[in-house]
Order: sequence, then structure tokens, then C-alpha cells
Amino acid sequence: MLTNHYKFWPRIPTSLTLPQTSLYDNLSVTTKRYPDKTALIFYGNTIIYKTLHDEVIALAGFLQQAFEVQKGEKVLLFMQNSPQFIAAYYAINRADAVVVPINPMLTASELEFYIKDCEIQTAIIGQELYDQVAPLLQSTTLNNLVIAAYSDYLTANEVIRLPKEVVEPRKGFEGSQHVYWQDAIAANYVPTAHTVDANSLAVIPYTSGTTGLPKGCMHPNKTVQANILGSFHFSRPTPNTVHLMTLPLFHVTGMVQSMHTPIYTGSTIVIMTRWDREHALEFIRLYKCTHWVTISTMLVDFLSNPNLRAEDVASFLSISGGGATLPEAIGQKLLELTGIRFVEGYGLSETIAQTHVNPPDRPKLQCLGVPTFDVDSRIIDPATGKELGANEVGEIVTHGPQIMTGYYNREEENKHAFIELDGKSFFRTGDIGRYDEEGYFFIVDRVKRMINASGYKVWPTEIESFLYKHPAVKQACVVGVPDARRGETVKAFVILQDEYVGRISEGEIKQWAKEHMAAYKYPRIIEFKQSFPTTSSGKILWRKLQEEELSKLENA
Ligand code: AMP
Repeated sequence: MLTNHYKFWPRIPTSLTLPQTSLYDNLSVTTKRYPDKTALIFYGNTIIYKTLHDEVIALAGFLQQAFEVQKGEKVLLFMQNSPQFIAAYYAINRADAVVVPINPMLTASELEFYIKDCEIQTAIIGQELYDQVAPLLQSTTLNNLVIAAYSDYLTANEVIRLPKEVVEPRKGFEGSQHVYWQDAIAANYVPTAHTVDANSLAVIPYTSGTTGLPKGCMHPNKTVQANILGSFHFSRPTPNTVHLMTLPLFHVTGMVQSMHTPIYTGSTIVIMTRWDREHALEFIRLYKCTHWVTISTMLVDFLSNPNLRAEDVASFLSISGGGATLPEAIGQKLLELTGIRFVEGYGLSETIAQTHVNPPDRPKLQCLGVPTFDVDSRIIDPATGKELGANEVGEIVTHGPQIMTGYYNREEENKHAFIELDGKSFFRTGDIGRYDEEGYFFIVDRVKRMINASGYKVWPTEIESFLYKHPAVKQACVVGVPDARRGETVKAFVILQDEYVGRISEGEIKQWAKEHMAAYKYPRIIEFKQSFPTTSSGKILWRKLQEEELSKLENA
């Protein structure tokens, strides 16, 4: 089965020898090789590898000595893309602890779940996110904060045009266990010997998997290393490569492809805290960016910029992405402008990014690609578990070195997340797809209830449980509907409590949702209903509501 896929792209090694070292070791080796090379460019300011490494060491020492972070302890990383995010990630790893990266868009009540789930005591945060974190110092185990101001790294002159959180000067925060990033670094503590190995837990990215509420995917150093090596072999970066980093680092694609892989290689990363197509264009012109990992919404926005000329983007050698399908017309437009074929990949938080990638010299559009090295991916009948053949539609299942060891503290879910085939354990992706006679995979639908809005994954169950907190909501059902800009967007059907009928509007519920949920999650459309289609046991038939929506749009 496995070798079938490779005969179509023999240049991918079928197997790689994986590093047995930690993520920090990658930075350490690169720093020894290229101490004075530019590692990061942050809105005009450059940071060389030696400086980055020194900060990592000092912060790791501080975490261990001042905050008494223990080996294997989970440390929350709640920040936007910044030099500090990168330094903090490697410092936590160097301190033998585990990174728990969380979406900086979350509100305090959303964040509480993750802190409790991982029993977090120490967090490294961006100062603009302090208001989300502060209430949790009382209600959870969270006690210690390292607070960073991104402006500490700023020397650019044209600060007016930069994102607000980047230019905000350092603020004052009271609290015996609050420390500023710069003060933590200046304390110059020395960390104890680095003792983690390939099997030690490195990072827990959160997802909702195929069901319900968020759960953490346990990734030891070796699964992350497997994907760093995978993306290294596909995108072929060198120390001269300049990566444009636009994807959020808390999410696996940005984390592996825009942070770990460049650092493994000794390349330069141009950091963007927020997506802005004019900034992106300016940086590409200025720094001659060669590699960009992105998602379709950013690419659509970038390509529709009237100021864009072919010579501006002539430096690019590779533009790739995943997380959502790229519309064919956009791939074509990119090819005409740059001569570069968009390389689409596929993966999940559970697989720490890509398990499938399109061969760069033989990609197919709107296609997930072929399984990467050492990956065996198959299609099964989701109901019976029986393996299916070429062009038969079923659930995508994957076996490979990048698959998580399991969900953190979710014994029940772990039992259903894997299936055994030919004596090997395969992860059940919850995505419905097929592979063609050449071994390329395509996504067709999902078994899981998930909405893919601009690449942000939204889980209807989580939105519904928020909506039920509103006193007027008797029943809620959330579905994804097609959206020209976001790919899909969130729609909530609501049945009102009797006493609220006629007394509250759809707009008011939407406004309430907007105030209580992260911006990418809240339902953009609310529709009141008097009843829902249900099974005989009373379970809401969400798929039926979704199908009704789609047929309404088709007939419109
Ligand atoms: P996440 O865990 O947030 O990375 O989300 C993983 C999900 O994103 C997958 O299960 C797919 O549903 C979706 N996804 C990933 N890559 C692609 C792709 N290339 N095309 C379409 N959907 C994708």
C-alpha cells in the first residue's frame, strides 16, 4: 500500500532517519553554525541567532530558578506572533517543560478551560492579552506570569502603520509573581542540564478532534522532529532562505513550517504579528522572501492587491499551505504571476501538521497530495472499518511518525481515535476523502462536526454550549455555511425560550455572542426556528439543517 504512493514521486525518500534530539537542540546546533546570521526580522528590527539563543537560555533559567518550573510541567504560551513567542517556545523546551500554545483570540472564559485542563501554573503572555488572563489568577492554578511587550523589539521608524499590539509601549502591572520579559532575561539565570529526549512530551496543541470540546494532542519531541524533517525535504530551504511568517504560531502549520523548520535550517524568518497585505508586500520587496506558508484567504487577499506587480514577488521559490482547500482559480492566478505552483498539504493538530503534501513538481489543484515519507494513509468505511480502494470514498486514516501519542487525559476519546489495520495503528482523521489511481488524496466531506472558517477550525458543539449560557436560548444548533471570503462561516439556528419569543431579536443574540466568543468563532448568522428535525431519541439532526442550508443557496 505504502510503496504505491511513492512510485509517483520517487524523489521523496520513503523513509528518513529521525533525529533523537529535542527541539531546543535544533536551535543550539544552528546557533553554533551561524551565530551571527539573522534569525528573525521583526518590523525592521533584526535579531541574530546568538541573541535569540542567549534569550532562550536566560528565560529557561528564569523559569526553572525563579518560577520553579519542573521537568514535564506544562507552561501556557499565550502570545501573538513575535520574537518573544519563538524565544519562549524554545526556552520552555530547554527548561525540560511542555509548551501549551493557545490561540490569542480567546476570551477569559474560553481560556479558563485550557488552564484547568493542563493545570497550568506558569504562563508567558503578550501584555495586550493581560485582561484575558488576570481573572484566571484567582479562579485557577495559574500563578506565575512572564509578560512581554512586543515593542521591546521594535526599532522601525514608521510605527504608526504597524499593528497596535506591536507598537504599544511596556505597561505597568502589579503582582508579586508578575515579571517583565526583559527583567526575566536580565536576571541571567543559568538553566540546569537539558535532560529531555526524543520521547519527552514537547507540545500540546489543542483541537476538538472528531467530537465535542477541545482536547490537547500530546506530541513528544520526535513527532515534531518528524514533521520538521518532512517539511525540510519538501520545501528544500537553505540557510539563505527567507521565510515570510504570516500563519499564527499557536497552530501546528505555522509552528512547524514557519518556525521550527527555518530554525532547524538556519534560515531567516520575517515575522508578521497580524496579516496585512501591504506589510507583506513591503517585506517581500525589502527582504526578498523566498518561502511562504499561507492559507487561501491570505493568498486571495494578497493577489487582489492592485499594487502587486510580478517583479515584487520574483524572489519566491516556494509558496505552500494547507488547513483548507485552495480554490483552483487562485492557484492559477498565482502560477501566472509568479511561475510558482501552490503546494497544498494536509494534516491536523493530531499529526502536528502535514501528513500529505503535493509533490512540488507534480502538484494537483484542490488536492491534499500524497503521503509524506514513512506515512501510510488509507481510506476506510467509517462505519465498518473495512479498507477501501482507489476512488472509493471513505474516512482518511493515517499511520506515521508524526502522529500524536494520544489526547491528554482523554482515555475514552483515545479508544476511538485509532484503528488497527495490518497490525499497525492508524489515526482516524474524521475527514472523508478518496485517493485517485495515482495515489493523490482528495477531501470530500467530514465525519466530524467542524467548520473551517478562513482556516480557523470552529467546533459547533463548543459554540452551542456557549449559546446555551444565554437565558433566551432554549435549543441551539450550529452549522457551517459557504462563504465567499472565509470559505465557510458559522450559522446558528436557535429556538427561543417561550417567554423570550417576540422580545429579543436575532441581532441581539449575535451581538451577545460576539462579546462572549473569540472573533473567528461567533456565529455571523443567527436564525430563529420553532423546531428542529430530530432523531426518535431527540438528537438534533444537524446534518439535515446543514443540507437544507446548502440547497437553499443552490436554489437562490
Ligand atoms: P487542525 O487540527 O486545526 O489543523 O484542523 C485539521 C483539519 O483541517 C483537517 O481535519 C481537515 O478537515 C482540514 N484540512 C487540513 N488541510 C486541508 C486541506 N488541504 N484541504 C481541506 N481541508 C484541510
